[in-house]
Amino acid sequence: MPVAGNSSGFGGRMTVDLGALKRNWQALDRVSRGALTGAVVKADAYGTGLSEASRAFYQAGARFFFVATPDEGIQVRASVPEDAHIFVLNGLFPGAAPLYVGERLMPCLCSVPMVEEWIRACVASGKALEAALHFDTGINRLGLRLSEVSIIKRLIDSVGYKPQMIMSHLACADIPGHEKNRTQLALFTSIMAQFPGIPASLANSAGLMTNRENHFQMVRPGIALYGGRAVAGRANPMSPVVTLEAPILQIKDVKTGESVGYGALQTMARDSRLAIIAIGYADGFFRSLSGSNAHRGSRVMINGRPAPVVGRVSMDMIGVDITDFPQIPRPGDMAEIVGKTITIDDHAEVAGTIGYEILTSMKGRYSRNFIESAATPTE
Ligand SMILES: *Cc1c(COP(=O)(O)O)cnc(C)c1O
Repeated sequence: MPVAGNSSGFGGRMTVDLGALKRNWQALDRVSRGALTGAVVKADAYGTGLSEASRAFYQAGARFFFVATPDEGIQVRASVPEDAHIFVLNGLFPGAAPLYVGERLMPCLCSVPMVEEWIRACVASGKALEAALHFDTGINRLGLRLSEVSIIKRLIDSVGYKPQMIMSHLACADIPGHEKNRTQLALFTSIMAQFPGIPASLANSAGLMTNRENHFQMVRPGIALYGGRAVAGRANPMSPVVTLEAPILQIKDVKTGESVGYGALQTMARDSRLAIIAIGYADGFFRSLSGSNAHRGSRVMINGRPAPVVGRVSMDMIGVDITDFPQIPRPGDMAEIVGKTITIDDHAEVAGTIGYEILTSMKGRYSRNFIESAATPTE
C-alpha cells in the first residue's frame, strides 16, 4: 500500500475510492456520448495518485490520458497497457523530442518552434509521430495564435504531416453564461474548418457538462472525475472520491475570554471545549481556513457533527470547537477533514479559492489508501 507521509500508521489517512473514479468517468462518458472521453491526470491525478487513478480510468474504458509534464507521461505509460494514448498538455519541452518518441508521448504543440522541432523529429525518424496542435482561442495562456494558422498549415503540408488532434481550452467554462464561451467556440470552429478531417477537442469538465456543442470528437475532463465541482453555482452531480481523516491529539477546555492559537485572533465567547487535530497548513489545510473573531473559519466533521475551526491554522494542527457535542471524542479518534459531508468545495469557499487547489494541495503527512466501493443506488 503506498504510504505518503505516515508509515507508522499514527497520523492522517487519505482514502481514494477507485470505484467512484470509474463511475465518474463512465458518467461523463455517457454525457458526452458520441465523443471520446479522455482523462486528465496531471498533478498526480489531482492529488489522488497518478498510477492508481490512471489504471482505474483505463479499466473504466479510458484510452486517452492528458498529463502536464513528460515525467507524468512516463509514469502513466508505465502504469497502463500499451494501447493508451498520452497527451502532454504543456507541449514539447525543447530537446525532449527523443524522450517523447521513446515513451510514445504526444505533445500538444503550442508554438511554431515546437511544431518545427516535432516535424524535424518526424523527418529524422521517417515517421509521422503523433501530436496535437493546441490553439489559443482567447485564454491567452498556451496555444498557437490564430494568425499562425496559415504558417502551421504550410509547415505541416510541406511534409504531408497530419496532427492527431486539434485542441483549444476554455477560459470561462465554469460560468456557463459567460460570453467568452461563445466567442471561443466560434473561433475554434473556424480553426477546425482549416483542418478538415482532424479530430477536435475543446471541453474540460465544465465545458463538457454545460454544452453539447463543446464535445466535438474528444472531451478532456479533470476535476469532475475526482468528485470536484466543475460548474459554479450548480449542484455537483459527481460521486465523492477522496476522504481525508486526521486524528485528534488532545481535548482542551478553554474559558470565556481566552484566545486560541497564534496571534490570539479568536477569543472564546463562552466556556468551550476544543479538539486539537493533527493537520495543518503543511498538510495542505490552508491558513486561510482559520477562524477569528471577525471571520468564521472552515469546519471539519467529528462523529458526523460539524466542528468549526477556531483560531489560526498552525503548521501541524488545528483547534476545532466541540463544545456542544453530546459525547466527548477521544484522542486517537479520527476527524473527517474532507469526505462525503465536507467537501473540497466547502473548504474552497471559506479559503477564497477553488476545490482544485484544495485537492491538489492535499499531500501531507498522511498515508494514502485505495478502496474500490460498489455503486450505491443513488449513483
Ligand atoms: C487541466 C486541463 C483540463 C481539465 O480541466 P478540468 O477543469 O479539471 O476539467 C482540460 N484541458 C486542459 C488544456 C487543461 O489544462
